[in-house]
Amino acid sequence: MKRRLILLFCFFQAVATAQTFNPFYSALTANCNQDSVTQNLMEFEALGIKELGTSAIDDTYDWLVSKYTNLGYTDIVVDDFFANGWPTKNLIVTKTGTVYPDTYVIIDGHYDTKNGTGTNDNGTGTAIILEAARLLKNINTEYSIKFIHFSAEETSLQGSQHYVNTDVVPNNMDIKIVFNIDQVGGVNGMTNNTIICEQDMSPPSSNDAQSALMTNELATCIELYSNLMTEISYAYGSDYVPFMNQGEIITGLYEKNQTPYAHTTQDSIEYIDLDYVYEITKGSLGALSHFAIAYEELAIPENKSNDLNVFPIPSDGYLTLSIESLVGQPIDLTISNISGAISHKTRISSLNVEQIVDIMYLRPGAYLLYIEAQNQRYYKQIFLK
Ligand SMILES: [Zn+2]
Repeated sequence: MKRRLILLFCFFQAVATAQTFNPFYSALTANCNQDSVTQNLMEFEALGIKELGTSAIDDTYDWLVSKYTNLGYTDIVVDDFFANGWPTKNLIVTKTGTVYPDTYVIIDGHYDTKNGTGTNDNGTGTAIILEAARLLKNINTEYSIKFIHFSAEETSLQGSQHYVNTDVVPNNMDIKIVFNIDQVGGVNGMTNNTIICEQDMSPPSSNDAQSALMTNELATCIELYSNLMTEISYAYGSDYVPFMNQGEIITGLYEKNQTPYAHTTQDSIEYIDLDYVYEITKGSLGALSHFAIAYEELAIPENKSNDLNVFPIPSDGYLTLSIESLVGQPIDLTISNISGAISHKTRISSLNVEQIVDIMYLRPGAYLLYIEAQNQRYYKQIFLK
């Protein structure tokens, strides 16, 4: 919990970004299931008061592991440490990206609580991350995603600090963005139609501009994929802090109407606006899909006499094509990105045995190669490094 006492900075979203509505992300977010999110919240609440040294905090860790195991995740790592003399654990679940496997989009939230069951602080962030993990399980993303559930946030951010000190820094981890979700339940009975998107305004200043950019992108995604409005404010007092102090690029979400019950025995589901949490889930999934560049596995039609050979994949600037049956024939070649926008279109009047295609100017990512010749159609999904 934290109190945003003075709104020093409160920029209303008025930034034109290059982001546009992505129908695939919209379809993904439409699959968010409110019952699933609410069920996660009820289970979280039933686990009890998750303070250091309690069985409840260990049970919650085990519950999280079983959730990811049941979803089919296999890269599940425990990060053990001591906080205030008690042994406790961060949970790190990794989904490997197809184009940038060693660059990470981190989505995180803490699961420890203070005085109460912490259903808002931070059952809400926990439930949202779980739902995002459920929906992205079988979706390709260009960047790797780490779903991280930190312990010991309520005792001076010790969980995230431990992870930064013992994993991020020594491994020189390549992090694209840290997206923290903490206490986003709103106040039941109030009009909860706005979410605060948090940007780094603290030293060092080297990462602040990038954080501002990513936070604008977060806000745009929230507005594209949920019915919520956004406000930009400053980041403080949650698990992104150790990352931003280290120079990493962060962003975060925090409720606009602040619950009066955080860190009390009354932080329970009855005081949360469940519709608000559901909308934040959709917006968060849209943002995570955007940050990690989720893309649709293309349904490539079978071609019976397909002698198309393309290499190397992934490519690094040039593709070599060979289609034995079409050597010497004209072909039309199209390369489109995953949303169907054409990036390259050319007619080759006489196909070589090994036809070199220059694609140096395309940005890294997933594309569809489409060739048409002699009433034959050839499709191939390609990746550029
Ligand atoms: Zn919290």
